[in-house]
Amino acid sequence: MFKALLITKNETAQSVAVTDIDESQLPEGAVTVKVEYSTINYKDGLAVTGKSPVVRKFPMVPGIDFAGVVESSSSDLFKPGDRVVLNGWGVGEGHWGGLGQKARVKAEWLIKLPAAFTSKQAMAIGTAGYTAALCVEALVAHGVKPEAGEVLVTGATGGVGSVAIALLSKLGYKVVASSGKASEAEYLSSLGAAEIVDRATLSAPGKPLQKERWAAVVDCVGSHTLANACAQTRYGGFVAACGLAQGMDFPASVAPFILRGVSLLGIDSVMAPMAKREAAWKRLASDLDASKLESISKTVSLSEAAAAGEAIVAGTIRGRVVVDVNA
Ligand code: NDP
Repeated sequence: MFKALLITKNETAQSVAVTDIDESQLPEGAVTVKVEYSTINYKDGLAVTGKSPVVRKFPMVPGIDFAGVVESSSSDLFKPGDRVVLNGWGVGEGHWGGLGQKARVKAEWLIKLPAAFTSKQAMAIGTAGYTAALCVEALVAHGVKPEAGEVLVTGATGGVGSVAIALLSKLGYKVVASSGKASEAEYLSSLGAAEIVDRATLSAPGKPLQKERWAAVVDCVGSHTLANACAQTRYGGFVAACGLAQGMDFPASVAPFILRGVSLLGIDSVMAPMAKREAAWKRLASDLDASKLESISKTVSLSEAAAAGEAIVAGTIRGRVVVDVNA
């Protein structure tokens, strides 16, 4: 038996509880992992609250990330004792996920935990941090250099935003953080933000073309914020769009793209191919100051995970929440 957070659903409502589960109930997969840590991402918040239909099968163990040790493997790719990390692939949505003490998954979904990180640090990064790294990789791959000018990061105090600021500032970019939390200015500066703007300056409907300011953008927010960010991006600049915290809509015009040559780069972490995942984790290992992870993250127990999911959807979480599934 092992403990896991289990989401069940009847005709009217879903419920979430820490439950004892027999190992024979684990889904199919070549690799069984003893999970050490998981985490709460925005999507996990949507899963445990049921606010958006991210869970496609019930009962479901949520948790789109986990880090731990291989217990058994019928694949040549992994052997017992290997330290592994998993991000995405629909785990915690259509296949039992990381918010439990054991997980069984396809070998192709796992990557070896980079030696730079412990399992706990890997989950302080989690899908949010790995997505931030995918955004940074996309900007770097498109030739955005620190001397090109300011880089805007929206949703700055969130998990993706926090790691994006830390990575970009380490790489020498001048980062401007957009946040709705004036009280977190010190936190954002400590991560490396050179300036903080009130997110209200970006979140209302705006003109299709505005004063050019950003060399590049990492956007976690979508909706009017993304539209305004594009409208303020300098000629030939790049906007990496990964999130929808304000909304899934994109009420923009084509003007920034066809008159200023701005490029919109879509960032998906869930089905990203292995080469991109490995590059993102390599970037995190080389350029994320592990000491910053301490200030970015806090740790909760499995029984506190559902409440943390509610808080992330309510927008009251700062940075990242790590879940100690064995606490
Ligand atoms: P968090 O909830 O940790 O952060 C989101 C941040 O957005 C908040 O902290 C807040 O920052 C800001 N925000 C919240 N509500 C609003 C609003 N109504 N208007 C404007 N800003 C708002 O989430 P994550 O950082 O984990 O994820 C960020 C987004 O990226 C989410 O939408 C998530 O679903 C998406 N995502 C996408 C992935 C992909 O593969 N494309 C992978 C991972 C995440 P502040 O208070 O500082 O303004």
